[in-house]
Amino acid sequence: MGERNEAVTVVGAGLVGSLLSVFLARRGYSVEVLERRPDMRREVIDAGRSINLAISTRGLYALRQVGLEEEALKHAIPMRGRMIHPPKGALAYQPYGKDDSQHINSLARAWLNKFLMSAAEATGKVRIRFNQRVTQADLATGSLTVLDEASGQERQEAGRVLFGTDGSGSAVRQAMEQVPGFAATQEQLGHGYKELTIPAGPGGAFQMEKHALHIWPRGTYMLIGLPNEDGSFTCTLFLPWKGPVSFESLDSPAKLEAFFEEQFPDAKALIPDLTEAFFARPTGGMVTVKCAPWRVGDKALVLGDAAHAIVPFFGQGMNCGFEDCTVLDGLLEQHGTWADVFGTLERLRKTNADAIADMAVENFVEMRDSTGSPRFLLEKAVEKALLNAFPGEFVSRYSMVSFSRVPYRLAYEVGAIAGGIVSELSEGLTRAEDVDLGRAKQLIQERLVPFMKEH
Ligand code: FAD
Repeated sequence: MGERNEAVTVVGAGLVGSLLSVFLARRGYSVEVLERRPDMRREVIDAGRSINLAISTRGLYALRQVGLEEEALKHAIPMRGRMIHPPKGALAYQPYGKDDSQHINSLARAWLNKFLMSAAEATGKVRIRFNQRVTQADLATGSLTVLDEASGQERQEAGRVLFGTDGSGSAVRQAMEQVPGFAATQEQLGHGYKELTIPAGPGGAFQMEKHALHIWPRGTYMLIGLPNEDGSFTCTLFLPWKGPVSFESLDSPAKLEAFFEEQFPDAKALIPDLTEAFFARPTGGMVTVKCAPWRVGDKALVLGDAAHAIVPFFGQGMNCGFEDCTVLDGLLEQHGTWADVFGTLERLRKTNADAIADMAVENFVEMRDSTGSPRFLLEKAVEKALLNAFPGEFVSRYSMVSFSRVPYRLAYEVGAIAGGIVSELSEGLTRAEDVDLGRAKQLIQERLVPFMKEH
């Protein structure tokens, strides 16, 4: 691998590119980061995508490695469970983990991005250049064509080792398409999303339960809400693009108001600027990107959404990208060549990125369809009973994905077995307290324990 002190280029100072730069700097590299947007610490610009996001064990572990976890957690709001809002009737709460220590955290995207950029610069080895859009990359040499968005001038940058962290529409990944044997797929979800705000109440009070992720599951669509530090909630409405209830069909204030009144009456009462915000704010799309290989020889590597954009329903896109950085850092410690490091990283991460991509799509169906059903609530309660009764032996998919660093692929496989056990034990049950723990022990010993031992 290149000498420490070697200069490398990172394309994109989003969440993953900024954190990656911190890791690289700490290993001694000089990092030049090219970012297409202006500096969001100086200009008010839209941070893009979601206003807040959920960070959990994998993301926090990555921040801990570079001493940034503690500060990030000061700005985060723990979300200990899901609060389900039915169209009528009482709210239902389901804890995420075996107890409150297992929670996910709501964090403002713009704050986190600025914090990571400043942390990168504070290493003294990272220079972030803003308004610099990479338009082409020659991956045989690593040289780049860069458009300075402020002056309109285009220039060539000399070849260096290149990290593409330029998000789901990655220019670096597009350049890889010229490399023989490269393949990429992009699957658009048939749903879009729109962000709406529940403002803070008097004195900055939270107008709904603060420590929960709120979900209004409605079958083919849903609304969710995550708390912000200032007492507000950012709500995201996920709707099909087209169809009887869709972004296309809600084309007038009257239709929108009637729809919210019928489906989300409690949320509607808390969103004063519903109509204005709905029609003024952009509608975002969601895509799953899979590609292979992630690298070109010893010249270039894509990471984060550039390599594996996923839909947001497991709250893992950034967490997965941050985990890429942790794994890369571990490989850098072992001093291979760049080609070795890139090849091993891809081998270790690709299958796991594919697994979380698939789980995220499955979770969409679960969140919008099942979270409101009595059967789902019962199964979640049975799952919690098993997590508490058989610690270390029984594990759920959600807990492995969100509260552990078990490889996603393994979480997928073990989660399927665990889910089957819960489903079987819930058959004919009306109360989770009545679950047959003897039978549970037997099923866990027969199906889960041998699988875990094998892996
Ligand atoms: P990005 O954040 O997209 O950053 C890419 C950067 O590259 C940007 O700064 C961009 O300006 C720059 N760039 C792009 N092209 C170029 C170019 N040609 N030249 C130079 N610079 C360029 N993940 C979670 O873990 N938890 C969540 O709760 C969560 N919620 C989400 C909710 C929604 C609605 C969405 C859409 C996503 C959510 N995600 C969540 C996923 C998360 O947003 C992404 O996984 C994460 O932003 C990926 O970071 P990144 O740095 O790889 O890409």
